[in-house]
Amino acid sequence: MRKSLLLIILVAAFAAGTGITAAASPLETLMGLTMGEEATVPIIMYHVLEDTPDNVWEITFEEFEADLKYLAENGFTTVIMQDLIDFVHHGKRLPEKPIVLSFDDGRSPTAQIILPLLEKYNAKITMAIIGVETDRYTEIEKQGSTSRHPHMTWDEVVAVHNTGLVEIQCHTYDLHGPNGAKKNKGESEEAYRERLLTDLHKFSEKLQEYIGITSNTLVYPLGAISSTSDDIIKEAGYLASLSCHEKNNIIVVGNPDSLYSLRRYLRPPHKSSGEFFARLSDNKMMNE
Ligand SMILES: [Zn+2]
Repeated sequence: MRKSLLLIILVAAFAAGTGITAAASPLETLMGLTMGEEATVPIIMYHVLEDTPDNVWEITFEEFEADLKYLAENGFTTVIMQDLIDFVHHGKRLPEKPIVLSFDDGRSPTAQIILPLLEKYNAKITMAIIGVETDRYTEIEKQGSTSRHPHMTWDEVVAVHNTGLVEIQCHTYDLHGPNGAKKNKGESEEAYRERLLTDLHKFSEKLQEYIGITSNTLVYPLGAISSTSDDIIKEAGYLASLSCHEKNNIIVVGNPDSLYSLRRYLRPPHKSSGEFFARLSDNKMMNE
């Protein structure tokens, strides 16, 4: 916290204690944090844990464990999207060096094999699932799945959610194609809005039906986005969205817009945790 802000809060606290009415601005606070207070939050993007990674979307179990170890040893605390939302909307304090570990696509057995690691390192992740794939694999499961990295079934999604270590979020119901959630060429703005809202509504219905929760963050498939996408998802009740641009995030207490199109760093294989996270530090990603 900046010293000047701390001073203002202390003066306000003193004033409150003595019954003196403090001036309205800039002493407005949300649960003790001053409006406008900022936090820097790096977000990491993972997909699949695999013994022999052969593309940028896969890393090994050992590499992921090394990441968790590195973060713990370097004073980071993993947080989930709900924590960022609580900071911005309710002024709820974040830990000193917060970081979000996001997993895209909801693959099995990745979702299950990381659970003991999350317990061991007291970590949490945010996992974005694709509704239509979860539906499809729930059906396929009945015949026996042969896919290398199948998507989770709804039973599996419920099971990982119930551990309290995995926050389930939306990767759209069925917009994981090459164009993602972007407006199609030649599509009218109104048709696009209808299409996106219908897709998100379907996802919400499924999540309510199977888990009884609401998703508050949209993870844009492939990071594909149009200029009006964030406005449309706000209409659908989404409080945050994640892109694939690799840059830092500064979120602001009392500024809900600071939670949209947040940037993420893709964690590639064959790199030590020190090497990977040093790169974020070079970009002044750390809260220091
Ligand atoms: Zn994806």
